[in-house]
Amino acid sequence: MVRILVNDGIHPDGQTLLEEAGYEVVTDRVAQEDLLEVLPNFDAIVVRSATKVRKDLIDACPRLKIIARGGVGLDNIDVEYAKEKGITVMNTPAASSQSVAELAFAHIFALSRSVAQANRELPKEGSNFKALKKSYSKGVQLRGKNLGIIGFGRIGQEAARIGLGLGMNILAVDPMVDVADIQINISNNNPNVNLSVELETVDLEYALANSDYLTIHVPALKGALIANAEIEKMKDGAILINTARGGIINEADLMAALDSGKLAGAGIDVFDNEPTPDPKLLQHPKVSVSPHIGASTLEAQRNIGLELADKIIAYYGDDK
Ligand code: NAD
Repeated sequence: MVRILVNDGIHPDGQTLLEEAGYEVVTDRVAQEDLLEVLPNFDAIVVRSATKVRKDLIDACPRLKIIARGGVGLDNIDVEYAKEKGITVMNTPAASSQSVAELAFAHIFALSRSVAQANRELPKEGSNFKALKKSYSKGVQLRGKNLGIIGFGRIGQEAARIGLGLGMNILAVDPMVDVADIQINISNNNPNVNLSVELETVDLEYALANSDYLTIHVPALKGALIANAEIEKMKDGAILINTARGGIINEADLMAALDSGKLAGAGIDVFDNEPTPDPKLLQHPKVSVSPHIGASTLEAQRNIGLELADKIIAYYGDDK
């Protein structure tokens, strides 16, 4: 029987799917240092970001056929080495796209109506209700505003779908995408009732200069994509959102732009130096923050579990 070690958890529906298909699934977490001893008895390992699957562990496990990562990033796995050894590495890049895009909008809404600030100040200064009401009275609506999206892949296109639904104009930037056909389901989950919107991408300069909101959805890059030079080109009073990866926005430059009033706000889910982000950024009055929870919804976790189970079952076919 194929034995699968699930070391960083899997949604119960994914586990059930595997077990009903006849696989043995072991979900007792094995400490990293004990894996060298335990993993050789398994055919597959399912991890998230916590468990590392490096060369030494791969060498110790000639029986291993699959390393399955729930989520996207593969930095905790020696992917090329695993492939050389004939091991299949799989991940679930699409399972959390909707959740990440929705989190970007959680920050957009929170900043547009001062909800992030109110959640910090109102509990402390409830007696100041009238003064706070006045200071948060210049909220803005999203309809008709320009939404810049840098990185028009899975998550960027989900963000476009939400933005279109809200009546925003989309300015998408992506060197690999000229045009994308965005399908918006407009009738209570009836898959046949879709509105189709064809969106052509624009160049970065145009998006920087014209976006009221700019949300970043590119992969991890070497160096910052948004630093002083790019912020300078942005519209005064714009709002910047990063749910992609820490380092994509230069944090010092961002804080300077918030302090000067060049930018009106920033929504940040991903930071330099996670899990110990700069307290100055966390406490900045113009930011809305979350602790890297873009993919952390019940639906995304379930999608991840089911997709991994499907992929493992498809890998073995009738040969398990
Ligand atoms: P994707 O590969 O589907 O799309 C990324 C797009 O960015 C691609 O189309 C690519 O051509 C484009 N791109 C690359 N460099 C660019 C550049 N310099 N300018 C403009 N476009 C560029 O990836 P995705 O699934 O949409 O994920 C996007 C990001 O979201 C990744 O960084 C991923 O790590 C991050 N993410 C975050 C969370 C979270 O918890 N916050 C969860 C999942 C993914």
